[in-house]
Amino acid sequence: MTVKILKRQFEEALYGQYPSEEIQSFFSILSEKHLGMTRLELTLNSEMILSEAISEKYRTALKRLQTHEPIQYILGETEFYGLQFKVNRHTLIPRPETEELVDWICSEAKTQTPAPCAILDIGTGSGCIAVSLSKNIAGSSVSAIDVSEDALEVAESNASLNNAAIDFFKCDILKEEELPGQYDIIVSNPPYVRSIEKQSMQPNVLNFEPASALFVSDNNPLVFYKKIAGLAKTHLKTNGMLYFEINEYFSEDMVAMLNEFNFKDISVKTDFFGKDRMIKCTKNARA
Ligand code: GLN
Repeated sequence: MTVKILKRQFEEALYGQYPSEEIQSFFSILSEKHLGMTRLELTLNSEMILSEAISEKYRTALKRLQTHEPIQYILGETEFYGLQFKVNRHTLIPRPETEELVDWICSEAKTQTPAPCAILDIGTGSGCIAVSLSKNIAGSSVSAIDVSEDALEVAESNASLNNAAIDFFKCDILKEEELPGQYDIIVSNPPYVRSIEKQSMQPNVLNFEPASALFVSDNNPLVFYKKIAGLAKTHLKTNGMLYFEINEYFSEDMVAMLNEFNFKDISVKTDFFGKDRMIKCTKNARA
């Protein structure tokens, strides 16, 4: 079968299920992976004959896309902050807003003297935050924890894929009374979506991404943040910083909560879409 025919069949099969630009983009992402060809090369070689084995790879991906499975799980990988990460159904697919959080931390770390060195990422998932910080903050030593053994396995493979030395620990943060050390930075992107928000979510997220990494109960949506803020009070060094990704609807409650815990310099930051998405604060010398 030629590239041209395969492409036409692929587009027809997904027509109506996804916007046509997205279908085109799926096809070129798969071609990049399976043929090592760019979109332009593909167009220039549209009469190229594909082997049965290659065509079968596209057909398998197509069937999975028809069920709304995210392309990142189909490929088993994605890019985050310029680095390559493996992902599977045990880990969230890293989001662009989380790249913004990482960027915030990295750019502030550059201006701090001495540079922050001990960093802890809570609920690391694929390890995208921990690995990116480790690669971008010179001299840092990063630890990362998660409740899911399956996620930790993915995170560990991402650390080695990117040559990042990270200490991983399995732990259920809601049950911990202590953290493994004292830190200059504690960061977390914990579950923060309420069940009532499910109705506005897409099937690719709802049916495929790990619910335990996304959802919190409607009546205690800040459960992870409160627990982590409490632990940070004793496990952040003086003037150490706490960074969170947050639910856009809870920035005011987060500011109030962090004030109650006596953190200083609390600051909320919006994401690319203008939504309150990140917050940082500093541990008070008198905490
Ligand atoms: N931003 C993610 C989403 O909208 C949620 C991430 C999280 O719960 N930590 O799906």
